[in-house]
Amino acid sequence: MNIIAIMNDVTAYFKEEALRELHEELEKEGFRIAYPQGKADLLKLIENNARLCGVIFDWDTFSLELCADISKLNKRMPVYAFANNYSSLDVRLSDLQLNVRFFEYALGTAGDIAVKIRQSTDHYIDTILPPLTKALFKYVKEEKYTFCTPGHMGGTAFQKSPVGTLFYDFYGENTMRSDISISVTELGSLLDHSGPHREAEEYIARTFNAERSYIVTNGTSTANKIVGMYSSPAGATILIDRNCHKSLTHLMMMSNVIPIYFRPTRNAYGILGGIPKQEFTRESIEERVKNTPNATWPVHAVITNSTYDGLLYNTDYIKNTLEVKSIHFDSAWVPYTNFSPIYKGLCGMSGDRVPGKVIYETQSTHKLLAAFSQASMIHVKGDFNEETFNEAYMMHTSTSPHYGIVASAEMSAAMMRGVTGQRLINDSIDGAIRFRKEIRHLKAESEGWFFDVWQPDSIDDLECWPLNPRNKWHGFADMDENHMYLDPIKVTLLTPGLSPDGALETSGIPASIVSKYLDEHGIIVEKTGPYNLLFLFSIGIDKTKALSLLRALTDFKRVYDLNLKVQNVLPSLYNEAPDFYKNMRIQDLAQGIHDLTVQHNLPDLMYRAFEVLPEMVMTPHDAFQEEVRGNVESCELDDLLGKVNANMILPYPPGVPVVMPGERLTEESLPVLSFLQMLCEIGEHYPGFETDIHGLHRNEETGKYEAMVLLDSVVHSDSKPSDTVKKHAGKKAVSGE
Ligand SMILES: *Cc1c(COP(=O)(O)O)cnc(C)c1O
Repeated sequence: MNIIAIMNDVTAYFKEEALRELHEELEKEGFRIAYPQGKADLLKLIENNARLCGVIFDWDTFSLELCADISKLNKRMPVYAFANNYSSLDVRLSDLQLNVRFFEYALGTAGDIAVKIRQSTDHYIDTILPPLTKALFKYVKEEKYTFCTPGHMGGTAFQKSPVGTLFYDFYGENTMRSDISISVTELGSLLDHSGPHREAEEYIARTFNAERSYIVTNGTSTANKIVGMYSSPAGATILIDRNCHKSLTHLMMMSNVIPIYFRPTRNAYGILGGIPKQEFTRESIEERVKNTPNATWPVHAVITNSTYDGLLYNTDYIKNTLEVKSIHFDSAWVPYTNFSPIYKGLCGMSGDRVPGKVIYETQSTHKLLAAFSQASMIHVKGDFNEETFNEAYMMHTSTSPHYGIVASAEMSAAMMRGVTGQRLINDSIDGAIRFRKEIRHLKAESEGWFFDVWQPDSIDDLECWPLNPRNKWHGFADMDENHMYLDPIKVTLLTPGLSPDGALETSGIPASIVSKYLDEHGIIVEKTGPYNLLFLFSIGIDKTKALSLLRALTDFKRVYDLNLKVQNVLPSLYNEAPDFYKNMRIQDLAQGIHDLTVQHNLPDLMYRAFEVLPEMVMTPHDAFQEEVRGNVESCELDDLLGKVNANMILPYPPGVPVVMPGERLTEESLPVLSFLQMLCEIGEHYPGFETDIHGLHRNEETGKYEAMVLLDSVVHSDSKPSDTVKKHAGKKAVSGE
């Protein structure tokens, strides 16, 4: 942060000689100087160069108006006004928080002025740095010497080894020196929530509109387990989104709770429409409790908000309707919702507390804000026991957290504050909307086919677009009014082959082919469905990235229309099976996979596979206990009917578990099996297109897919969830005597 802008108009004030003197003195203080040509140029510079830390201008030329404009871009930017004439000082200046300093120039005072500008800049840096990061920077700058862990001692150890120096040079000095031990007392403690760490949490809570926030250093995977461990004692019943992240399945394997699953809808594209309103009502829950063996009234609920396809819930409805003590919104994908008004009422921390309930929101800071991997946050609103909560927190937190991750979480909060933060989020929303419009424009101009975007017909209103029951574009049959909203930042592209009502067309281009093509060109797609691709416009996406994506999509259309050979279009795929792909052309490949999809009626099968949940024979916890006791065996996919699964089975796409640990596939849930068989079959026909199915593995000898199931001997025909836990508890008591 070292650039000072001198408005060219100060030449009216300065003689050339004096200006040169000021320039040189500022350089001595370590600044670089830019000379914007007029106001528009300056404002562009502020917008595009975050290292700018001061503006020098002539008060008599610019005065208040310029200050107001600068303040719109950065309220805290230091500005330095040279004035002959203070009498025209405008009282409205005090309405601006802007840090204005007045100077009068006389020959030989340039050195003095430069020193004062250095001081103001240091003060500016001091005001924008958040507390923990500031303390960490200070500590590292003071070069304190410690005799504790980590063993590399600020990087010294690496430099004593030839290979170690390579590592040191790659990461650099500050990475080494800021990796310090938790025993440095002046930085406080993450686990005790003390000192600058505590201040960081408070700073984050203020920034994210929470009452209490926690920094988590092992991702939202861990944040989810912490919240779950605290909120649901063993034996309790919880409501949980069937479309939950696997960390929540792991929570249920660790803590013996009885799940009742919320069932999100799907459309023909395989896009999840969210949990219908009805499922949150007292009547619906009463019914589910009655039909779930050993279940009691649920104490806690977990909802994935947003869904993987970028749909956000009307969270006010859920908070007010759902009759449970605590509600956890897993918002791993949307850590930015507090920074734009378009997300109001659609996220966990939006609005005030809800009497009698605790609201949690977990966010993967690293996913869509600027933080290191694993940086995550828990936000809380409502009364909870901090001491007990902290036991759950510490249970999942290393006693040697990486300060870089912690500071980066705090930094992401600092970046999102104020007008500079709003600008970041607005730019990514604008970028996404421009991209959406450009795709529509290209489609209209295009000869023949082109990609489409999954969005309302008009996207002119800057908002999260509602999925209203009367609109057809979203392809959901029974959408609730004012319930689900599409986040503009999450862009789903559609490939030809499937119409919104679920009908398969005679020809089509499966999205997996486009995804492979983009991969060849260095563009990684977030999620690939049968005929859709998801892209995220995070704050790190700039115009050039969006342009290269557009370019790659139009290139794909060109090579597809030219019907080039697979060998040329998808060389990596070709190399996986040269004999198979020899002479095959791209249209043959697309049509071949499309025909298989048609033959199996994939959209219908996918829809039905999630319609009926398999039977829960025991809780995920009990099933896992049997697994660790070794009471499991492999079972071929075709023989899975009637078996109790040990592990979760989760195909990508759509990334929703079809079978949970402890669940049994029955005649009723047969579509689940057919769906899995079809996914495996498509993979067998086309090398390189194997579906990624967590929980199934391929037997090297037979080439068949297998799952891990519980031995029949540990599954009793009349087993009920959590019966096994009672049984084993009984055994223990006997053996203990
Ligand atoms: C990614 C994700 C998580 C896990 O977050 P990490 O930060 O990767 O540990 C949890 N829930 C959802 C919905 C996710 O998408």
